[in-house]
Amino acid sequence: MIEELYTSKQVELRNRARELAETVMRPVAAKYDVEQTYPWEVQHAIRDAGLSGVWIPEEYGGLGGGVLDLCMVVEEFSRACGGMGVGFAVNALGSFPILVGGTDEQKERWLPGIAAGEKLIAFGLSEKDAGSDAGSMTTRAEKEGDQYVLNGEKKWNTGGAVAAYNTIFAVTEPGRGARGVSAFVVEEGTPGYRVGKHEDKMGIRCVPVVEIHLEDCRIPADNLLGGQEGRGFKHAMITLDRARPGVAAQAVGLAQGALDLALEYTHERKQFGQSISSFQGVQWMLADMATQIEGARQLVHAAARTIDAGVKNITRMSAMCKLLATDVAMKVTTDCVQLFGGYGYCKDYPIEKYMRDAKITQIYEGTNQIQRLVIARALMREAASGS
Ligand SMILES: Cc1cc2nc3c(=O)[nH]c(=O)nc-3n(C[C@H](O)[C@H](O)[C@H](O)COP(=O)(O)OP(=O)(O)OC[C@H]3O[C@@H](n4cnc5c(N)ncnc54)[C@H](O)[C@@H]3O)c2cc1C
Repeated sequence: MIEELYTSKQVELRNRARELAETVMRPVAAKYDVEQTYPWEVQHAIRDAGLSGVWIPEEYGGLGGGVLDLCMVVEEFSRACGGMGVGFAVNALGSFPILVGGTDEQKERWLPGIAAGEKLIAFGLSEKDAGSDAGSMTTRAEKEGDQYVLNGEKKWNTGGAVAAYNTIFAVTEPGRGARGVSAFVVEEGTPGYRVGKHEDKMGIRCVPVVEIHLEDCRIPADNLLGGQEGRGFKHAMITLDRARPGVAAQAVGLAQGALDLALEYTHERKQFGQSISSFQGVQWMLADMATQIEGARQLVHAAARTIDAGVKNITRMSAMCKLLATDVAMKVTTDCVQLFGGYGYCKDYPIEKYMRDAKITQIYEGTNQIQRLVIARALMREAASGS
């Protein structure tokens, strides 16, 4: 990172995140990967370092940072552990719908706890049969007096098992497709809200990804975000536009973390009587990886700055940075495993975890095929309008 391009506050934030990642996250990353349990000690350290609410406005107790600040922190955490990076970033994903579409009263009610690191929040859009086509969800929310009654099942809920709040998307007006979807905040402990199956995952194993069952789950009507039905899907899409650079930053962090390890290993490992880093074939791989990572990082930061500047149409930039950075992460982490040779394939070394953690970044918050669709549609729309 070229420090001169960032404010002193951002450099300080990055340094604080890096120190926490190196002293608290890296030493326990392998342990939680094996155990597949949630690292509460890490969550408490993030809270104590005052980093929980980086993206939340100061009036609600956050640091008042933008998407760029969020990305800088997520990159540092993911450089040490991709699971811990997303365990943190999912709170931005879950709370963006409140920031984007919530009333002042709702922001007051939910954001300060999240900003203080006392409450975690998840994001419940996907269902078993509604993934890329999220608008085809079937979870229902029916109004009864001053309550909504929720019934259905959410799938792939990252952090759902440890979250105090869950932003749940549900159909309030069947037959209207995405326009019949509304967003609600459901609080843990509400009768009828139940955490189900925990997924046994390839990577990001320290963060629980669970099914959420909603069985006659009654919530106050004023948990409807924005107090208006039918705006949930739009808010979900605006949220994804703002959150995808965070996934991209996770990918950049993973790629950088893997390259750091490969640089160290190729210097130490000797074959044919010399360091393998003295071979030009290896050096070119290192140079290519560093170049791809820097290119991805710059696009992520450009997308984040575009969002923070309040530019209206951010969909294309956001999808582009997610697509590029996550494909780079997959390639770089795979190449780094290659540079470790047979040792890279075994769990004695931390490098294979980077490859496993990287894979999900090409899948969640919209697969990379979907990102290509989003980008192509934006291109064609712009061409048609002559802009
Ligand atoms: C570990 C993990 C964590 C997740 N966390 C969350 C979360 O916190 N909250 C949440 O709401 N969701 C979450 N998800 C869900 C995630 O966003 C979806 O898995 C993803 O959007 C893909 O949906 P799907 O799995 O149903 O795949 P499908 O939509 O069934 O896609 C299968 C394949 O078909 C391709 N495909 C589908 N449609 C098209 C098309 N039109 N053109 C070209 N190719 C296409 C896809 O790219 C993919 O390769 C998570 C998923 C995982 C695995």
